Amino acid sequence: MKQPTLGNPQNTIEVLQKYNFVFQKKFGQNFLIDTHVLDKIIRAAQISQDDCVLEIGPGIGTMTQYLACAAKKVIAVEIDRALIPILEDTLDGYDNVRIVNADVLKVDIAKLAEEENGGKPIKVVANLPYYITTPIIMGLFEKHVPLKSITVMVQKEVADRMQVGPGTKDYGALSLAVQYYAKPYIVANVPPNCFMPRPKVGSSVIRLDRYGTPPVKVQDEKLMFRIIRASFNQRRKTLANGLKNSPELDFTKEEIEEAILTLGKGGSVRGEALSLEEFAALSDCLSKIREE
Ligand code: SAM
Repeated sequence: MKQPTLGNPQNTIEVLQKYNFVFQKKFGQNFLIDTHVLDKIIRAAQISQDDCVLEIGPGIGTMTQYLACAAKKVIAVEIDRALIPILEDTLDGYDNVRIVNADVLKVDIAKLAEEENGGKPIKVVANLPYYITTPIIMGLFEKHVPLKSITVMVQKEVADRMQVGPGTKDYGALSLAVQYYAKPYIVANVPPNCFMPRPKVGSSVIRLDRYGTPPVKVQDEKLMFRIIRASFNQRRKTLANGLKNSPELDFTKEEIEEAILTLGKGGSVRGEALSLEEFAALSDCLSKIREE
């Protein structure tokens, strides 16, 4: 296998000039130009020669080269058609890479995992386009793609939101959803000068290890997530008002108040004070009230 040739500013500029590449802001293109950060991501993802890796947004193929050296197989899904001839060039000689020109939000990833890894769990590794971080991560979890872990570069603030608990300002629907499906670890903070062009925000690498079974049991997963969304939709409102006003829920004022009381919480409690276990209990309580 060829050793990576990309990952520093000179080689990146050379490739971009050779193809007269124009950065597309709408695709969140900030390419990595720091080999230490690349090594750190590969180490954090704990990739072995048995792993099939999905890379979302390979760009000019910088991280793809590193992944190809570490993994058995790499599937690289890139939306920007202008990058495909570049990828074919920079990944020439890396025979275990499949390039897919598509929008990752529209690709059937479970099918790709089936084709390339016999349906066995894959690892996702990416320097994500920040404008769609949440839909990408939630899509991977909610569509039940067979996954071992997700190791991704995201906006620092989003990484913080994924790993905090109740009572903090960053705690919200994303924290609860991520923590229902996976255990988060922040791997590193990465400053803007490690990218070309430089993003306006700081970045972090976070690894999410998928749970075999979620850490809490809940009768109706979909209802729990509707309740969670409703609780954080109106942050300054009480939990009871958030649930009453939600177009996604149709419980009466009395049913909601009864369920909150069963939790042992006061009527003025806010959603941000509830743990994942308490949201599961609230959801089960509302399911039970409906069955009666
Ligand atoms: N992996 C490269 C690197 O680290 O240098 C590029 C990372 S850049 C932050 C994000 C990449 O995702 C870009 O190449 C962009 O074109 C691609 N991208 C943006 N939206 C996408 C989508 N919906 N589906 C697939 N790729 C997308």
